[in-house]
Amino acid sequence: MIGFKHEGLKDELLLLPVELLAEVHAFEDWSREQSIKPPFVTCILRSLSENAMAGGVATSLHLRGRAIDFRVIHYDLSSLKLVNAYWLKRKRPGLEVVVKRHGTGPHIHVGLK
Ligand SMILES: [Zn+2]
Repeated sequence: MIGFKHEGLKDELLLLPVELLAEVHAFEDWSREQSIKPPFVTCILRSLSENAMAGGVATSLHLRGRAIDFRVIHYDLSSLKLVNAYWLKRKRPGLEVVVKRHGTGPHIHVGLK
């Protein structure tokens, strides 16, 4: 069961491009198989001002609802290593993945170009 920082994210999730939504569900399934805590979504769509406050780049895919951020602070260290490795393996042309610290705080960013 995916967690959400606020209720509105549930609706935003359903508006993600199909390919990105499939990534989210694949991550949810993988987390369950690995007995790792379920994904927790902190951000999807951002307004221009929200993006500026979050330190997002001007071309951020969040402005078009084509990116999703996952919380990482709820993982223990061994889970976090597995999760980071999982996403780095998913990274491919068209799918941007940022696991290193960036923006407002520790999180994993996944965006579809
Ligand atoms: Zn992001």
